[in-house]
Amino acid sequence: MAGDVRKAHRYVRLAAAMRFDLITIFPEFFAGPLDHGILRRARETGLIEVQVQDLRVFTKDRHRSVDDRPFGGGEGMVLKPEPLFEAVESLLGHSLGSAEQPALLAPKTAIVLMSAAGTLFRQKTARRFAQLDRIVLLCGRYEGVDERVAEHLATEELSIGDYVLSGGELPAMLVIDAVTRLIPGALGNEASSQNESFSENPASSPVPLHTEFPAALGSGGSGLVNHLLLDFPHYTRPADFRGWKVPDVLIGGNHAEVANWRRAAALEKTQRNRPDLLLR
Ligand code: SAH
Repeated sequence: MAGDVRKAHRYVRLAAAMRFDLITIFPEFFAGPLDHGILRRARETGLIEVQVQDLRVFTKDRHRSVDDRPFGGGEGMVLKPEPLFEAVESLLGHSLGSAEQPALLAPKTAIVLMSAAGTLFRQKTARRFAQLDRIVLLCGRYEGVDERVAEHLATEELSIGDYVLSGGELPAMLVIDAVTRLIPGALGNEASSQNESFSENPASSPVPLHTEFPAALGSGGSGLVNHLLLDFPHYTRPADFRGWKVPDVLIGGNHAEVANWRRAAALEKTQRNRPDLLLR
């Protein structure tokens, strides 16, 4: 562990911190999740910097209102566009334009609107984000956010899954977590973010198709395919826990056999829990 920490420190000197900005009506929400484990260490070692911006600072009326009733009628309140645009403009230090004069955004910057109606945030999105310099995350509340934010402020509108939450704060936190652990040096062990669920071939080489996995047969012709797989199952001591034993091959010490077993087990688990991944 001490060695891992030293390694993380070494990376810090090579790269500038990735900057995350959270725009929210609940700034206190983020105190806990940023203060543990990998995220905490990444902040302490300067790999990432996270700033939380209170949306209400960018209101101008006496009541500091961030929301208003929906045009067209209906239930609930909608977050207004002005405070969100102004919050991002203040963070970036330049105007984001208007319909007549759209503005250009600095390269390597993303402005992300968290939204149940967005495109799905996936591991490949996290990988793309890990290459950026700055990510601004807009957290919605109530019935959602004025659509002009999705269309003219955000560079992308992202959902973390097919369910509706009460706010964008938890979704934004998930994005920060998934992206941070892909930044070199964030994990103690560099190899560990390469062999995970949703990486191509967690067991490190193409998966030989096997008749036991008919779903996989549909998607390749060559006999070898590069699917996104779930991670293989992990075991630790004791080797026999209440009579449930660790697979013998993992104890045998034959590296090639272990690698084969892990490949097959990852494929089997993917077939069982996420057959949709094998059909993609
Ligand atoms: N009326 C909206 C839901 C609003 S929920 C709809 O039906 O699509 C309030 C806020 O929570 C949203 O603006 C968004 O920021 C956040 N949110 C809810 N579910 C989410 C999800 N699956 N992914 C990302 N953000 C979500």
